Amino acid sequence: MVGRAREHRAFDGMQVDRVSAHIHFAHTEHVNWVIYSGRDGVTLVDSGYLGQRALLEASLDSIGIRPADVSAVLITHGHADHLGGASWLAAQFGTPVHAHSLELANVRRDILQQAGTGGVLRNALRPGVLPWALAILPLLEGRADLGVPSVTAPPMRGEHVDVPGQPRMRLVDGHTSGHTAFEFDDEGVLVVGDALVTRHRTSPMQGPQLLASMFQHDVDRARASVGDLGSSTAHVVLPGHGEAWIGPAAAAAGSALDTGAPW
Ligand SMILES: [Zn+2]
Ligand SMILES: [Zn+2]
Repeated sequence: MVGRAREHRAFDGMQVDRVSAHIHFAHTEHVNWVIYSGRDGVTLVDSGYLGQRALLEASLDSIGIRPADVSAVLITHGHADHLGGASWLAAQFGTPVHAHSLELANVRRDILQQAGTGGVLRNALRPGVLPWALAILPLLEGRADLGVPSVTAPPMRGEHVDVPGQPRMRLVDGHTSGHTAFEFDDEGVLVVGDALVTRHRTSPMQGPQLLASMFQHDVDRARASVGDLGSSTAHVVLPGHGEAWIGPAAAAAGSALDTGAPW
């Protein structure tokens, strides 16, 4: 983290930091999620692995929210590390889950734009790949193909999603073909999913960067999308993996382009 979060709570394997008036960032070793909580309700952006339900509940509980109180879940993209909690919330409480219309097939798991066993095996000798794969395996709970059948495109008000916090939806594709960032204008917070990350077990590099090519559906589009994020005026950037970036979004995007991907 570049600056200091306003409040900080530590759990076993998780940190929950308040990064703006109404937004908390839940940061775990493997993946992150974001909680908006205001007078208008609660919106969760991404939701961890299926096997991280206890941490998801603990993160909500730490700010006085019960799982049933979540008004909506927004999914940046349909990968197992981002939609596990959403599939549980949808099944358990009927919580609405939304993603960009171009990403719905990934979130339902009708298609699978994700690093599979073949990709992992081909890259198994690269630093960090095998430890990463072994660490996440139990978090999948044997359901790597789990999707959210009920996912729909979000209700929109202009370019803003009509859920609590009213984030702006920004298509930043490449990692997957409908990968989306959510920009909370009033909070100055940009949630970028895996469009850029600040750390990953398969990379020796620190700070803003792109994920390794094994994880990208379209490497060139992924890079162009990071350039697009540079137009944001947000001063907090919350990635799907690694620490929060407390600083201008343009600087995070520029740094990610300079650093590039580990391989
Ligand atoms: Zn991903
Ligand atoms: Zn991810």
